[in-house]
Amino acid sequence: MARSRRVSKYQRAAQRPQHDVTRLAHGGARTESRRGEEWFVRDVPAHRAEKSYVCPSCGLPVPPGQAHLVAWRAEHLFGDEAALRDRRHFHAHCWRLG
Ligand SMILES: [Zn+2]
Repeated sequence: MARSRRVSKYQRAAQRPQHDVTRLAHGGARTESRRGEEWFVRDVPAHRAEKSYVCPSCGLPVPPGQAHLVAWRAEHLFGDEAALRDRRHFHAHCWRLG
């Protein structure tokens, strides 16, 4: 099945220690299912929130210094690196509300 094949491709990439995807993926990322899609999700603690982002869920800013989370698609049409480039910063409560 295409779905599991893509996941295992990701896992193989993650085993290459010098790969950028590995470094990002291993920062405490977990997988979550949202609206029927698999996402990698990582918590961003307040002291690591250095920039301002716009939450794609509510359209309001995520200001620097606010703990939030970053999520990217586990299955991206253009591969894992494209998925990481497209990662989004959500308010924690917005992500939970889905
Ligand atoms: Zn929000």
